Amino acid sequence: MRLILLGAPGAGKGTVAELLIEKYGIVQLSTGDMLRSAVKAGTPLGAEAQGYMNRGELVPDSVIMGLMEQRLQSPDCESGFILDGFPRTIPQAEALKAMLSRLGLSIDGIINLEVPRGVILRRLTSRRTCSNPDCQAIYNIYTKPSKKEGVCDKCGSATIQRDDETEEAIGKRLKTYEEKTAPLIDYYRSEKTYASLPALDGREVYENIVAFLERR
Ligand code: AMP
Repeated sequence: MRLILLGAPGAGKGTVAELLIEKYGIVQLSTGDMLRSAVKAGTPLGAEAQGYMNRGELVPDSVIMGLMEQRLQSPDCESGFILDGFPRTIPQAEALKAMLSRLGLSIDGIINLEVPRGVILRRLTSRRTCSNPDCQAIYNIYTKPSKKEGVCDKCGSATIQRDDETEEAIGKRLKTYEEKTAPLIDYYRSEKTYASLPALDGREVYENIVAFLERR
């Protein structure tokens, strides 16, 4: 099973992907996670990406395509994968199409998660992350607060707002999404494998995605 998950930042792609990887025994390929690992590991690629990420801008397509080309050929991708946060621009979608055809692979489902902007803003600004790089536990001030405000339950370090989750960076990320990523909906809309589904509830949208894939 090979899937593409589309949706604004904070639409819940990561949560839905977790359920789908378990169901289909496939891997989640999140370019955001790959970039954050590169930043944490202090690699040259991480150093190049960090500034863009902190400003809520997209990392250049050439960097992303290099990352993905390597990753798609790893042995753990053979049983299938979910692309989460990629492609993010029309040129990335075109490069992906060429790459998949070179590798002889096809996509079984392209799913767009629909979530109202107000919900997205509230979700993203309410997230807190443990500042200890070895812990990085995630909290939400409304739905999953730490026992003591501002302190991580697991390791006792301070919980903080990620640099790209401040109000300013989130505004920028949503603007970038509207300009660069939302056009992918029109790009993919006519594909038989495309579906756009309301995604307020992670479990419900997961069930609708499975139903769509099994109908096909
Ligand atoms: P995410 O966790 O998917 O929201 O990604 C966090 C940040 O990583 C984004 O705001 C971008 O700066 C960068 N990023 C992730 N995926 C991509 C991509 N496919 N193309 C360009 N930049 C990306």
